[in-house]
Amino acid sequence: MEELQDNICEECKNEEESVKNNLIISGFKICDSCKLSKTIFPA
Ligand SMILES: [Zn+2]
Repeated sequence: MEELQDNICEECKNEEESVKNNLIISGFKICDSCKLSKTIFPA
């Protein structure tokens, strides 16, 4: 069974409220912490 994991960060696999917002804003399904990391170290 697969569940919808709308708020699961793809980087750290933690469930964060910010994941959904960041997906909309930046296109990355990541939490605020990982978004910071990506900003400092862009892929
Ligand atoms: Zn994360």
